[in-house]
Amino acid sequence: MSSKGTLYLCATPIGNLEDITLRTLRILKEVDLIAAEDTRRTIKLLNHFEINKPLTSYYEHNQKEKGEYIVRQLLDGKNIALVSDAGTPGISDPGEDLVKRCIENNIKVSSLPGPVAAITGLILSGLSTNRFVFEGFLTVNKRNRQEHLEQIKNDTRTLIFYEAPHKLINTLKDLLQVLGNRNIAVARELTKKFEEVIRCTIEEAIEKFEQDSPKGEFVLIVEGVNPKKLEEQQQRQWQEISIQQHIDMYISQGIDHKEALKRVAKDRGVSKREIYAQQLKKD
Ligand code: SAM
Repeated sequence: MSSKGTLYLCATPIGNLEDITLRTLRILKEVDLIAAEDTRRTIKLLNHFEINKPLTSYYEHNQKEKGEYIVRQLLDGKNIALVSDAGTPGISDPGEDLVKRCIENNIKVSSLPGPVAAITGLILSGLSTNRFVFEGFLTVNKRNRQEHLEQIKNDTRTLIFYEAPHKLINTLKDLLQVLGNRNIAVARELTKKFEEVIRCTIEEAIEKFEQDSPKGEFVLIVEGVNPKKLEEQQQRQWQEISIQQHIDMYISQGIDHKEALKRVAKDRGVSKREIYAQQLKKD
């Protein structure tokens, strides 16, 4: 009985061909088949390294049928390498789906690490790398996009987005509208000849790209909300409602009266005694 093959997730350069690893080169030479998101781009890479292997396309619009085909080949004992159009497979591409299929079929998956645009941009941004969140591409649907940005606007972690050049200015304007005028790093053409990292505010970035139209590939790294500012903003919001409305808000959430008073005191940065005193005055 033949044993199953392995799916190798091979990271490839995001611009500079020297960023390929020795292990990835060896695996690309050894596998039976290479599944590529963009076969034309991958052929150039393979030609450069004089690798001659059968290629098959695996991209967003054929991921179901092609995923099934790849799994059958793996079950048949073939070793297959998966490569993204650039960078790490599974990050903002259909690699995730193929990995799930392999896991469901008890097929071994091996990751060959290498370049990722998001991390390359993050570490050049000068913004906090301590805690960050990868948001990928924002949806183009206006309402969903707005809801998404509303969900993350109070996140204190650094936010990372991918964006295409023709959508960049619109996205920057949406970020400004919902997140406010924060610090941003716009990382362009990473590892390539015209690599550039613009570190400024979102407003300044809009101004810049309205003058020189955006070209190339972009990662946007946006400063998370400052926890102090967030607290001040929340304090201001609480001041807009009365103590009673504040207590009622918690009670309507099913919280008992004693706990509600405790939370109101904490939110408003005052002692519980002060909240009780206000309540008594009112009664
Ligand atoms: N799998 C890739 C990775 O590991 O980063 C990402 C694939 S995603 C389909 C392509 C997006 O990644 C581009 O639209 C751009 O936002 C970002 N990107 C890829 N290469 C880049 C580069 N050299 N400089 C800046 N951004 C890049």
